[in-house]
Amino acid sequence: MIRFDHVHKWFDSGLHVLKDINLHINKGEVVVICGPSGSGKSTLIRCINKLEPVQKGDIIVDGMNMSDPRVNLTLLRAEVGFVFQQFNLYPHMTVLENVTLAPQLVRGIPRAEAERTAMELLEKVNIPDKANAYPGQLSGGQQQRVAIARGLAMKPKIMLFDEPTSALDPEMINEVLDVMKTLAREGMTMVCVTHEMGFAREVADRVIFMDYGVLVEENTPEEFFSNPRHERSREFLSKIL
Ligand code: ADP
Ligand code: MG
Repeated sequence: MIRFDHVHKWFDSGLHVLKDINLHINKGEVVVICGPSGSGKSTLIRCINKLEPVQKGDIIVDGMNMSDPRVNLTLLRAEVGFVFQQFNLYPHMTVLENVTLAPQLVRGIPRAEAERTAMELLEKVNIPDKANAYPGQLSGGQQQRVAIARGLAMKPKIMLFDEPTSALDPEMINEVLDVMKTLAREGMTMVCVTHEMGFAREVADRVIFMDYGVLVEENTPEEFFSNPRHERSREFLSKIL
């Protein structure tokens, strides 16, 4: 579903932010990416829906090569849902409008059908009662669950999460992680940048540890937490666990 082949990226500043990244993610796999701040995690997942270009190597997502200028970005981003740390909901639209906008505009779904699907998704993320509220009236955890519902409304094949719980108060973290666990168990292909190691242990098929733009370790969660292969992984774990 996702393949990185010898991918390198430099920012205009000259920073070599991704260094020879090789990665294969199969359909239905859940991969957790962790690593110190500034190691390139966000940049790496932003490349998967071409929010960032790369200068060398290939990224293939569901058969589409990201370096092909003919890639239809609108369709790509419909197939690859993205949930950010900051929920990025449209503040002037209701929850229902937030969730139904893109399916109507991009997929051409009639409004009534888009609303039906949206209500099912709001049930799934446990906030059907907030359909007519505005984002500013919701807690952070509720807003993030709306953001997940909005991504799912496009019927994506892949969901990317970039530290989806980092901006939340502690008591709201689990309500978001629970939704993500449900998705994982339903077979969604997921790439999650997160330091929620309980989540990683419970649902990840693989954990990837990045440092200084390098994919340092790729391991099963069991091995990564109990017996990391690299000194830098060990050091990182000793700081966060
Ligand atoms: P992480 O998500 O692991 O914290 P990022 O991918 O956000 O790391 O950033 C990796 C490095 O790239 C950092 O040193 C960051 O300052 C730098 N960086 C991120 N975005 C840009 C940009 N648009 N231009 C230049 N440097 C950037
Ligand atoms: Mg980041």
